[in-house]
Amino acid sequence: MIPQSFIDDLLYRLDIADVVGRYVQLKAAGANLQGLCPFHNEKSPSFTVSPSKQFYHCFGCGAHGNAVGFVMEHLGLTFPEAVENLAGNLGIDVPYEKGMDVPAEVRSEREELVELLTRAANYYKAQLKKSPVAIDYLKNRGLTGQVAARYGMGYAPDAYQNLESVIENYASNTQLDLAGLTKISDSNRRYDAFRGRIMFPIRNAKGQVIGFGGRVLGDEKPKYLNSPETPVFSKGHEVYGLFEARQAIHKMGYALVTEVIWMWWLWRNGVSRMQWPPWVRL
Ligand SMILES: [Zn+2]
Repeated sequence: MIPQSFIDDLLYRLDIADVVGRYVQLKAAGANLQGLCPFHNEKSPSFTVSPSKQFYHCFGCGAHGNAVGFVMEHLGLTFPEAVENLAGNLGIDVPYEKGMDVPAEVRSEREELVELLTRAANYYKAQLKKSPVAIDYLKNRGLTGQVAARYGMGYAPDAYQNLESVIENYASNTQLDLAGLTKISDSNRRYDAFRGRIMFPIRNAKGQVIGFGGRVLGDEKPKYLNSPETPVFSKGHEVYGLFEARQAIHKMGYALVTEVIWMWWLWRNGVSRMQWPPWVRL
């Protein structure tokens, strides 16, 4: 449970105009600010933000709330996640009362796995910057540094215990196996599952790292290696790239989901996107 006094203090310290302004372009309109509503599709602004009342309100669709409510709605977060997000922006830690509502073990196992995966992702990212071979490979494939950064891409060096340098108790940490980051050898030794690969973090809709896809640089097999199913990664429930595409989807009001082969065929035949048949726009 998050103490109410902390939430009151948080709302006092932040300005809703800044929070909303991160996602919506706002213009002054009298005492209020105005912009295009992010919650419904519109051409003239009916979405207002009141700095004096610290509320947003849309006259078009009725969306209404404070800064926490806005972040919940806009990013699809739960209440505690939204509070974490806003507190994080101010660089303050959220205090939790020992409460009756969160089953600590359930939450902490998922959190622990995400924490390990995030640490691994940061490590792989840092390694990419240090590896001219991996950078050259990506450049040859036409990827810019910008794209690599946007997708949080990294590199797992070709060694057996890479993660030992960033994970405490690597040798005895069974959570690493559960997260799909390591395996156990026949001689009962823990070793990295991803070695000598370009690493693509798989993020959930909240942006948390929940797994990886890894591609070799040469002709080694398997060409692609993906994280196994884990308590935080369920393949049938995730869409790769959704987190990265989320804001654009929100802005456009629709998403285009299609198999790559069809996009290629339409592109090759000079069909502009607006003319794509509806059955491709699943
Ligand atoms: Zn609206």
